[in-house]
Amino acid sequence: MRILVTGGAGFIGSALIRHLIRDSDHEVLNFDKLTYAGVLTSLEPIDADPRYSFIQGDICDADAVRTAITEFRPDVIAHLAAESHVDRSIDGPGEFIQTNIVGTFNMLQQALGYWRELDEADQAAFRFHHISTDEVFGSLGDEGYFTETTSYDPRSPYSASKAASDHLVRAWHETYGLPTLITNCSNNYGPYHFPEKLIPLIIIRALAGDPLPVYGDGSNVRDWLYVEDHARALRRVFEQGAPGETYNVGGNSERRNIDVVRTICETLDRESPRADGKPYADQIGFVTDRLGHDHRYAIDASKIRAELGWEPIETFEDGIAKTVRWYLDNRSWWQAILDQRYDTGRLGKGK
Ligand code: NAD
Repeated sequence: MRILVTGGAGFIGSALIRHLIRDSDHEVLNFDKLTYAGVLTSLEPIDADPRYSFIQGDICDADAVRTAITEFRPDVIAHLAAESHVDRSIDGPGEFIQTNIVGTFNMLQQALGYWRELDEADQAAFRFHHISTDEVFGSLGDEGYFTETTSYDPRSPYSASKAASDHLVRAWHETYGLPTLITNCSNNYGPYHFPEKLIPLIIIRALAGDPLPVYGDGSNVRDWLYVEDHARALRRVFEQGAPGETYNVGGNSERRNIDVVRTICETLDRESPRADGKPYADQIGFVTDRLGHDHRYAIDASKIRAELGWEPIETFEDGIAKTVRWYLDNRSWWQAILDQRYDTGRLGKGK
C-alpha cells in the first residue's frame, strides 16, 4: 500500500511512519509543514529507507496537496497534521481554526477530487483516515466512558476545532461517499514526544532541577496510550476498518495527573538519582489551573477490540519506564529542540 501521512514529523505521525517502515511493506510519503512541532530528527531511524519520502507542505495549500496526492497516488491518506497543544489554543486560537478546520476541509476536497478519478476497484480500496481526539466528547465525571456514540461536547478551542474537523470528515462520507475512517484516541505518550507536553516536560524539568508544575490540585484524570500501541491501532484501522466508521482508541490506563508526575519522579529516582540523594518529588509544585480544564477523559475501546482485534500491549508503568529511559538515552534529540526554539519554562498541558 501507499500511505500519505500528513503531520508525519509530529509525535504520533513519526511513530506511525517508523512503525510502517519497520514492520510493514507499505510505502510512505510524509507531508508536513514543519511548524514548531515538526521534528525531522524523529524520522532519522528510517529516513534512508527507499520506501520513505518527505515533502514540506501546508495542508491549507490546495495546489501543494493536490500535487502531492496526484504524484504519489496513495491508497490511504492518514491525516494527522494539526495544531495539537491545548494551552496554545487558549492563547491563540486562530491557527487552530485555520489548520485543524480549514486544513482538514482542504485535505477532504483534494482527496475527493483524486478519489473520483480512480477506477472502481481503487475507489473501493481507498481510505481517508482522520486522526482525532477523545477531547471532542467533553469532560466526564468520576464514572462512565466515552463510546463512539457519545455526543460531542468540546470545551477548548483545540477540541472544538477537532470536533469541527470530525464533522467535516463524516459529512464528506455521507454526502459524497468518500471512504473515510475516524479514530478518537486518548492522551499519547512515549519516545519523541515534544518537550512542551506533560510527560516529557516533567522528565526534562526534573533532570534540570526545576520546579515541576502540576495544574490545580492534580486530580484531573486522563487515559494514557503508549504511542507505539497507537501506531499499531492506526494501521489496523486503515487496513481493516469499515468505511464511514469511527473507532475509539484507548490505553486502559486512567491516571490522575499528580500520579503521572509521581510515577515519573519515582522512575527517575531509580534510573538517574538526584546528586543530593533527595527524591525528585520534592520538586513538585501546584500552579493555577488551566482555564476550562476538563475533569476526566476515559475511553471505551471495546469496538476496535471486538471488530478489529486491536488492544494496547503496554502497561502504564512499563510505558513510563521505557519513556523515561528513552529521554535519558536520547538527550541530544530533545536538547536540540530546547536549544533551537523552545523554553520549558512554559507550562505543559494535561497531556
Ligand atoms: P504534533 O503537534 O506533535 O504534530 C503535528 C504535526 O503536524 C507537526 O509535525 C506539524 O509540523 C504538522 N503540521 C501542523 N500544521 C500543519 C499544516 N498546516 N500543514 C502540514 N503539516 C502541519 O501532534 P501529535 O501529538 O502528533 O498529534 C497528531 C494528531 O493526533 C493530531 O491531529 C492530534 O489532534 C491528534 N491527537 C493527538 C493526541 C496526543 O496525545 N498527542 C491525542 C489525540 C489526538
